[in-house]
Amino acid sequence: MRARHPSPAVPPPATPRTLSVVLPVFNEAASLRLLLPALALVLSEVGMKWEVVIVDDGGSDNLKEVVAEFESIVPVNLQLLTLSRNFGKEAALTAGLTAARGDAVAIMDGDGRHPASLIPRMVARWQAGCPVVIAVQTGQAREPRPLAWTKRAFYRFLQKGERFAIPPDAGDFRLLDRCVVDALLQLPERARFMKGLYAWLGFRSETIAFEAPTRIAGDTHFRLPQLLELASLGITSFSMKPLRMVSLLGVLISTGALLYGLFILMDTLIVGNAVSGWATLASGMMLLAGIQLMCLGVIAEYLGRVFEETKRRPLYIVERCLDHSTLRTQTAR
Ligand code: UDP
Repeated sequence: MRARHPSPAVPPPATPRTLSVVLPVFNEAASLRLLLPALALVLSEVGMKWEVVIVDDGGSDNLKEVVAEFESIVPVNLQLLTLSRNFGKEAALTAGLTAARGDAVAIMDGDGRHPASLIPRMVARWQAGCPVVIAVQTGQAREPRPLAWTKRAFYRFLQKGERFAIPPDAGDFRLLDRCVVDALLQLPERARFMKGLYAWLGFRSETIAFEAPTRIAGDTHFRLPQLLELASLGITSFSMKPLRMVSLLGVLISTGALLYGLFILMDTLIVGNAVSGWATLASGMMLLAGIQLMCLGVIAEYLGRVFEETKRRPLYIVERCLDHSTLRTQTAR
């Protein structure tokens, strides 16, 4: 009788891994008309099943027609989420990440400043086992010097003493593994300073350098007021340093006042000079009132952030969702 050998185990067929590309857009129809065909071409060469998730962040242009026109020419797996108004890039990005179903998710701007041609290299690094691949912008020379210095100082201030690093030249153009996306979506805060959140999550990351081309069309949505707002969001959601600085300022001013008081006392009692100078008194009072208001302003920024968080309003409202993606059956979770 022949010994019976167990039949060799047949490995289950590996499910092909899938890729989502998330594009938050606000009045970028003109750019998308050129970007989408280029993106589709690149993605078709990646060798994975893919989908594109476009989030219309309350734009008023003809994005729907552009997408429909593109879909009639190139059959693509596409989701078009229309938010009920403009919620801001960070919220639109979160909406896109929530809708994305791929095993890896690439994030890129819809203005053409993030070249789609970089995606295959990012995917290759991800397939080699790296959960986060960040495209880091070089050639910042075109940015005005004062802006570049301010940005560098901002990031240095933000990360001093912290356990995580926020690379100053790394934006949202990156590829995230599914486990990173899930971890990111678990963070409950409304204040979504994405650069800080990516850094806070950790995970091993690799960078790819790229020279950003100019916008395909339109102009930046991030002018000085928006940049200041973003900076305030970054500081109040990631750093307590301003509050500590306010306390320190209080200690310094009190010490200075005490020493000055002692000096006046000695000057009067020992040297015999009469106390004079209402002008000194008046300007000192005004200076202190200004400093106090400034400190209150710092505290109010944090209080405002707490107020926003306690309201627990949703981060965005999806008005319409056009789903032409077939990835759902493959990556149902
Ligand atoms: N964006 C958005 N909502 C906004 C502002 C911008 O979805 O309220 C999108 C915008 O359409 C683009 C990306 O965010 O796809 C980056 O914006 P922008 O190009 O203005 O930023 P920059 O590259 O100039 O920093």
